[in-house]
Amino acid sequence: MARFFRAAQAPPDPSALNPRGRHRIVAPMPKLTILEFPDPRLRTRAQPVQDVPALAGLIDDMFETMYAAPGIGLAATQVNVHQRFMVIDVSEGKDTPLVFINPEIVSREGAQVYQEGCLSVPGIYADVERADRIRVRALDRAGKAFEIDADGLLAVCIQHEMDHLDGKVFIDYLSPFKREQVRRKLEKQRRNHEPARGETAEHVL
Ligand SMILES: [Zn+2]
Repeated sequence: MARFFRAAQAPPDPSALNPRGRHRIVAPMPKLTILEFPDPRLRTRAQPVQDVPALAGLIDDMFETMYAAPGIGLAATQVNVHQRFMVIDVSEGKDTPLVFINPEIVSREGAQVYQEGCLSVPGIYADVERADRIRVRALDRAGKAFEIDADGLLAVCIQHEMDHLDGKVFIDYLSPFKREQVRRKLEKQRRNHEPARGETAEHVL
């Protein structure tokens, strides 16, 4: 971010111009900063959304941030917005964006274990058991109510993002010993400026 910002303020650099004299096209930086564990703001319980149309720009920015990370889900809590909504896209082609506003799980069945990661806990992966099939009621980005039956990865992702809205992160499901190991690993990663994102995006929720 800092590098990009400086470049934008510097006097025009001829090497940044293409032969037709226009500025070189630079891929946009993700607009939003993702909070990282153990940031206490991740513990905030989000409030119900009252004004759906007001979220439009933020929803676009959240998708952009999520795809760039890359990840398959992002809850508003993770970008320091404490309202109950989240964006998800578990499709391979990244062409099925889903928005859930004021989501509620109305039924759950079965159990599955999936190796989860999280954009707010970079580089950490752990098995978490969750319901296998869920029915969710929510509003879409137009404010229209819908219900969806989800299983497999989509069910995992919805449950993971809804936890964020309640101030929970997936490592809360680990034993205190393992959680402490995670905290130390994150500290070391930050100290050494290690890039933490190694796994494929479908594990990063
Ligand atoms: Zn997460």
